Amino acid sequence: MADKSVLIIYTGGTIGMVNDPETGALCPFNFEEIAKAVPEIKEFSFHIDSYTLPEIIDSSDLQPAVWAELCKIIRDNYDKYCGFVILHGTDTMAYSASALSFMLNNLDKAVVFTGSQLPIGTIRTDGRENLIAALEIAAATMDGKAVVPEVCILFGAKLFRGNRTTKADAESFNAFQSFNYPPLAEIGIHIDYNYSAIDYSPRTGQLQTYTGMDTNIAILKLFPGIRIELIDAITHIPGLKGLILETYGAGNAPTNEQFLTKIKEATDKGIVVYNVTQCEGGAVEMGRYETSRKMINCGVISGYDITTEAAVCKLMHLLDKYKDINDVKKYLNLPIKGEITPKRICS
Ligand code: ASP
Repeated sequence: MADKSVLIIYTGGTIGMVNDPETGALCPFNFEEIAKAVPEIKEFSFHIDSYTLPEIIDSSDLQPAVWAELCKIIRDNYDKYCGFVILHGTDTMAYSASALSFMLNNLDKAVVFTGSQLPIGTIRTDGRENLIAALEIAAATMDGKAVVPEVCILFGAKLFRGNRTTKADAESFNAFQSFNYPPLAEIGIHIDYNYSAIDYSPRTGQLQTYTGMDTNIAILKLFPGIRIELIDAITHIPGLKGLILETYGAGNAPTNEQFLTKIKEATDKGIVVYNVTQCEGGAVEMGRYETSRKMINCGVISGYDITTEAAVCKLMHLLDKYKDINDVKKYLNLPIKGEITPKRICS
């Protein structure tokens, strides 16, 4: 491995956007513009290479195929680099970071997603600081090992575990939050690593990738007045295998018979119904209230303190990987990449 080399993978997003001269709307531009705007990257003591995806996108256009492509690039270049920085639009960054955390097994190097709220060519851009800090973290080693051997998101002076992160603000430079897990590092004068929060569990072998994703899932967000026809229509989508039920508070849902019957019908026909809270922080605790206890009887699986983004990716990953629904349910209940907090797990 070349000593201290980092690969930047550019996928698109605001960080590299410029105004279209005709419409005035922001659209993705090439990586050279980014490199020009941050001449400081040449001053790092380590080597930096870049790779631009064949099609750079606004991340609202993201499809799971891009996750597979990113995994392939990382796998094919794994031995050449000590870390990876992925420049990505903020809109779906938390989904991509969650997806890659499940797709990359035995990862022992940093994969740092970052982007910006203002294009890097603009005077007040947040992209410059984000990119510089992301590069420094991707290159950071301790006794020859990566300081952060995880898929993470660097944004607004904080480093978060990717699958714990949510885009919480459409305007602030602190666009991302991790409500249920502490930051892995804070960026100030020094980069202050929170070592006790970083996953140093022993890796069991070489890097492996599993990129299959079964997209036969849906999200149903509960609201007062939700019509039974809506629930019926969603649970009857042909081929549906997984349903994320975004419930209230600690995983609560209506207790009326009609609603519960629909949910029970869905689980009876083999749809995995996954209970994720609408709240930003805190966990689903099925059984704490009568309104969630009934869901246990309907065969609903608890999402504990998972984010919706991580829930989507975990469900798609497990549905593709395991053909036996009992395996899917088993792994939904376990933290597989630190996406849920074991101490919050109750039966
Ligand atoms: N729409 C942009 C994107 O996600 C927003 C951003 O990058 O901040 O690609």
